[in-house]
Amino acid sequence: MNASRDFAHGRIELLVGNIVEQDVDAIVNAANTTLEGGGGVDGAIHRAAGPSLLEECLKLPQYEPGRRCPTGECRVTGGGNLKARYVIHAVGPVYNDRSAEKAREQLRQVHRNSLQAAAEHDCRSIAFPAISTGAYRFPIEEAAPIALGVVREFLEAPSSVQLVRFVLFSQPPFDAFEKALGKV
Ligand code: ADP
Repeated sequence: MNASRDFAHGRIELLVGNIVEQDVDAIVNAANTTLEGGGGVDGAIHRAAGPSLLEECLKLPQYEPGRRCPTGECRVTGGGNLKARYVIHAVGPVYNDRSAEKAREQLRQVHRNSLQAAAEHDCRSIAFPAISTGAYRFPIEEAAPIALGVVREFLEAPSSVQLVRFVLFSQPPFDAFEKALGKV
């Protein structure tokens, strides 16, 4: 199952699959501020990439004890044993009802920063998971139009990035992204 839509300077693709298997220049990891690995996508990416990924992450500077990447930002490492040359470790917001607007803005930021990082590393293709929609509880129906809106805006201007793929882990998140892609 997949879907796509073309914009002025690139294409958005959606598919159901596993992000670790993607043959793209960069994959985005839904990381946490420690960059020490975790569950969900983060665990899967570290397992598939091998130990060099954690070694590289641990060498990144800490902005406070134990924390290497603030929410909304990202850090880039090599891809270890993955097909992807780079992993963009991106920290999405934890969603809660009382600070939903802040979480929406941070979700926009983390997508913008990841695309920018891919362009700075001269990537042609990048694959995202549905950041924050697992353990961080961002409702998928709300996250999908936000993520796609940022990518659409990014693809209105020229950069090295010509393909942005969202890899959804099952049918329900794919359906939410497909619906949002039609309206973005
Ligand atoms: P977060 O902490 O940012 O919410 P999670 O890893 O818990 O990150 O989940 C983010 C999304 O990624 C969820 O929708 C989850 O189902 C999905 N996911 C989990 N493993 C994979 C994988 N290997 N490939 C693609 N998506 C995945």
